[in-house]
Amino acid sequence: MIVVKVGGSAGINYDLVCDDIAELVKDGQQVILIHGGSDETNKVSTQLGKPPRILTSPQGYTSRYTDTDTLDIFSMVYAGKMNTRIVERLQKRGVNAIGLSGVDGRLLEGPRKSSVRAVVDGKQILVRDDFTGKVEKVNTGLLNLLVGAGYTPVISPPAISTDGEAINVDGDRAAAVLASAIGAQQLIILSNVPGLLRNFPDESSLIPTIRYAELEQALGFAEGRMKKKVLGASEALAGNVQEVVFADARVARPIFNAMQGKGTVIRHH
Ligand code: ADP
Repeated sequence: MIVVKVGGSAGINYDLVCDDIAELVKDGQQVILIHGGSDETNKVSTQLGKPPRILTSPQGYTSRYTDTDTLDIFSMVYAGKMNTRIVERLQKRGVNAIGLSGVDGRLLEGPRKSSVRAVVDGKQILVRDDFTGKVEKVNTGLLNLLVGAGYTPVISPPAISTDGEAINVDGDRAAAVLASAIGAQQLIILSNVPGLLRNFPDESSLIPTIRYAELEQALGFAEGRMKKKVLGASEALAGNVQEVVFADARVARPIFNAMQGKGTVIRHH
């Protein structure tokens, strides 16, 4: 089983990602795809007059402020437009893909945060109407059922809270929990960068390998949302995934490149 997370940042080439998935599935491999939609959500929410608001935690992690209206826009884009278009691409390539959000069948479940601490103008505030949380449980029974019947699941946030509310969750960390729950050996995280860069945005400063013990130090190179990927990698390895690869989804053969170790490979030893 191969778990692939493809991000939602500008420049990602979903056709190339789907080309690889089609080839893998034709070769008899089982693939689960989980995807993002951040760039498109920013565009659509701006068009709808609700430009994105980003919260920064005291630890420097960023997240989208997700009130009820934002959650609707988020779901429209992630589970609607993005998910359907990816499923369509795969269906065109002969892959029987099936789109699911984390809400469907309680696929991705976890607690909603009762409040979120954020730093605004140097001051800490508590945000209470934020529908965000963290995936802790995966409905692997549902995934195995689908994969066993020959379907290729294409999964997107939102997830479902323990109380049954739709919540915004980080895709990279959700992918980490999913890969670990399903017992995947490898988790491939594709984005619009070649991997973790020592001096972002200098692409020649790619870090080819990181060991588990070095992840804390690697976190220091990551800015903004890249921090969540490093955190996700750490959680996947802690959950018995053997290897996490950050790789480029702007170039041909993105998944095959990653499987061959092109990008940033993170493993235990
Ligand atoms: P996606 O939506 O594709 O999952 P994100 O936007 O969440 O991707 O994260 C990837 C982004 O992280 C890159 O586009 C880049 O702007 C940013 N980034 C910050 N620091 C680094 C770094 N050290 N190496 C690579 N990318 C970085």
